[in-house]
Amino acid sequence: MRNKIVAGNWKMNMSPARAVELINSLKDKINTTEVDVVVCPPFVCLPAVLEAVDGTAISVGAQNMHFEENGAYTGEVAPSMLVELGVKYVIIGHSERRQYFGETDETVNKKVLKAIEHNLLPIICVGESLAEREQGVTIDLVRLQTKIALKDVKAEDAKKVVIAYEPIWAIGTGRTATSEQAEEVCKAIRNVVAEIYGSEVADEVRIQYGGSVNAGNANELFNMGNIDGGLVGGASLKEEFASIVNY
Ligand code: PEP
Repeated sequence: MRNKIVAGNWKMNMSPARAVELINSLKDKINTTEVDVVVCPPFVCLPAVLEAVDGTAISVGAQNMHFEENGAYTGEVAPSMLVELGVKYVIIGHSERRQYFGETDETVNKKVLKAIEHNLLPIICVGESLAEREQGVTIDLVRLQTKIALKDVKAEDAKKVVIAYEPIWAIGTGRTATSEQAEEVCKAIRNVVAEIYGSEVADEVRIQYGGSVNAGNANELFNMGNIDGGLVGGASLKEEFASIVNY
């Protein structure tokens, strides 16, 4: 039985002080222990957020990391730095990083391997653009992204990764994929994991849907057979995030 996982991607929003306020209000409103809850603030908010969630079931993730251990990479953050702070998850390959910061399937794979080496749990983002959906290549593309992301990942580690299916056309647009569209792609992702590792691993891997998830659509989406929760952007900056977690 897979535990649902709902993660909030705060993107480049909030400040350390506002982050603590949000965590404090979420603490009182989250009323389920059956869902793994993760918040992914900007790097500079991580220490404050880690302190604020102390003693709660909320885990903390980063939004990115480098695949090198250290070195001359101005502006980057190494996995060991995140681990030392107490960060548990790391989002890898978000479409905004692919679009604006040159992230590729190959760098995603390098980061996934490095995160695993450091016992960070990767939340790997895959998903198609509107043009790709209209060309009918969604499943092929997402299968390829998933295969490359997991290249050289061992079966026992593959079980622990989270894969977020995020159609780019649904991110921040208010245009959510229908539950059937999301389920179709999440199922295809589980199938490709089964092809690589077998059904035991595929049954354990958690696959999220992301793209304009809100308190009104979370229930229907998260009740689909292959959708194990959500990666939430805009709505994770508000108390609404608690309602999504409590779906
Ligand atoms: C995201 O940033 O991963 C995301 C899904 O954003 P939103 O929920 O705002 O569409």
